[in-house]
Amino acid sequence: MKNLHIVGNWKMSLNKEDSIALAEKIKSISKKDNLNIEVAPTSLYIDNIREILEESDISVISQNFDLENLGSYTGGVCLDQLKEIGITKTILGHSERRSKFNESDDQINKKLEIILKSELDVIFCFDSYEQVPFELIKNTIQDNDNIKLTLAYEPTWAIGTGKTASIDHIVEIHTKVKDTLSKYSLQDIPILYGGSVNPSNSKEILSSDNVDGVLVGGASTKFDQLIGIVHSI
Ligand code: PEP
Repeated sequence: MKNLHIVGNWKMSLNKEDSIALAEKIKSISKKDNLNIEVAPTSLYIDNIREILEESDISVISQNFDLENLGSYTGGVCLDQLKEIGITKTILGHSERRSKFNESDDQINKKLEIILKSELDVIFCFDSYEQVPFELIKNTIQDNDNIKLTLAYEPTWAIGTGKTASIDHIVEIHTKVKDTLSKYSLQDIPILYGGSVNPSNSKEILSSDNVDGVLVGGASTKFDQLIGIVHSI
């Protein structure tokens, strides 16, 4: 049985009351052995949510981090601050960070290099094969037996639109990425799919070749849908 990942990206969708209420509900979810469940709340409440889920089967990760470390960077959130409150994993390069916050490929790849050299884990989002910085990954990962990187294929047109990519398309891209990773002996890097995943399409997606999990936006902010995705495995 392959190991699977379900990652919920709550974006900026929930206020504090709703974030806490959702965390209180999901803390009783018990996961199967081959499943890893994570949620990424907004950084403003991440410590509250981390505390609520501390004893649960669900881990809390960050949605993003800034390039610089502690210093004069108004509005920023850095890796040291995340680490200080016990957050050891983050999403990076989500298409909304690229399109709505103007984070360039260059900035995102620099951040990838920094986090790959740290002890933290990262989920790197890409929306095309060409956006995966294979050379950087190959040159930066030192220990192929202790890889702290997950990739997430998220076609921008499928994010929050209700339009899911076809299984054939998902498998084609994931296989192409996996084949290139294999050339560098990095085939163990998990590849998630994201884009309008919900309880009615998750089973088929999660059982597809070279799909190691799903990154879920909208459906992860609704308890019934999140539990539906978990139970579809
Ligand atoms: C996402 O935010 O990463 C995402 C895939 O969103 P949604 O599931 O709503 O399409």
